[in-house]
Amino acid sequence: MTPEPPDAGWAERYRGAVMNTFGAPQRILVRGEGAYVWDADGNRYLDLLGGLAVNALGHAHPALLQAVTEQLGTLGHVSNFFTTPAHVRLAERLLQIVTPGGAPTGSRVFLGNSGTEANEAALKLVRRHGGGQRPRVLALEGAFHGRTMGALSLTHKAAYREPFEPLPGGVEFLPFGDLDALERALGDDVGALFLEPIQGEAGVRPLPEGYLAAARELTTAAGALLVLDEVQSGMGRTGQWMAHHAIDGGAVVPDVVTLAKGLGGGMPIGAMIALGEHTGSLLGPGQHGTTFGGNPVVAAAALAVVDTIEREDLLAHVTVTGKALATALGDIDGVAEVRGTGLLLAARLDAAVAKDVATALLDDGFIVNPVAPDTIRLAPPLILTDAQAQTLVAALPAALARAGLPA
Ligand SMILES: *Cc1c(COP(=O)(O)O)cnc(C)c1O
Repeated sequence: MTPEPPDAGWAERYRGAVMNTFGAPQRILVRGEGAYVWDADGNRYLDLLGGLAVNALGHAHPALLQAVTEQLGTLGHVSNFFTTPAHVRLAERLLQIVTPGGAPTGSRVFLGNSGTEANEAALKLVRRHGGGQRPRVLALEGAFHGRTMGALSLTHKAAYREPFEPLPGGVEFLPFGDLDALERALGDDVGALFLEPIQGEAGVRPLPEGYLAAARELTTAAGALLVLDEVQSGMGRTGQWMAHHAIDGGAVVPDVVTLAKGLGGGMPIGAMIALGEHTGSLLGPGQHGTTFGGNPVVAAAALAVVDTIEREDLLAHVTVTGKALATALGDIDGVAEVRGTGLLLAARLDAAVAKDVATALLDDGFIVNPVAPDTIRLAPPLILTDAQAQTLVAALPAALARAGLPA
């Protein structure tokens, strides 16, 4: 590709043409390679946000490029009156990795285009589970499940929800990590409990130990489904295929898992995996659909992501790199606490200066995310090397100092 001219007035043109739902873009990015991206002025950044936990293989990974190019050059799209080998293969692969040892018999995959759509599909499936008799749906305070109306109804933040009410009804939010509240709320009128194994948007907040296993027991006893939203935490992000594989002994088998973000490595895809005969058959012909779902180009991209994670042993790599990074961050003056697992990490700072720190780091060539006023989130490509991670560790003290830390 011809390089972009240094500054063609992109910021102003953005303001003039793009809807203002995201605020002003911080940089105009023109190129990426591995864990790095470059802006229109030629500055290089270490991408420690990875397109918000999306660029699992980094930027311009040859395996992804080859898979997408080959598939697009062969067959780019068909309607869902037909299927393609890529669609079937991806569904089969997801059934293999969603549960250690493989998904139970009768499990089925629905492919869509994003995380919010994966959760929309899950919510529709949950409505069918009730047969009309289980209208209540439980989610947690701090939950983020997406921005379309159904997924938004499950998203806790009032500022996201309230301007768009009325939303689909029946959703109740329970205090985070409170098992008594869950036990009180469950009953034979509850369709499902939606959980993120690690709440991403709430600042990388893992479920307290024992909560997931207990929630499984309680939902089973009440006949309610357990839906795990692994949109951010899944696909190797935590050093496991799914974050829940390492929680409470890894023995919890949910009824539904939703995926997106890292799944396509940058191509838009979402998946809902319904586990077991009952859940796998709740949605029948005509009850759900999407034009692009299962698109072979995007499915080929996701297959390349899965294959590359396996071939390059990235789960083990993420575990080791993440641990070293978390330890090193925790040793820095001004960092109060490090949360998260693998390469989904948050550093809580001693003061509410996360935005200033993120700005200082950006000026120094590092992309991080101020997920809360006092918290920096990292969700870098899974291919991040230890040496690259250490450059952030080396740069952070000066960035903290510019933001006034340690006090
Ligand atoms: C990002 C996210 C979503 C929404 O995914 P989109 O692709 O943005 O629609 C849903 N759930 C979780 C946990 C997420 O992090």
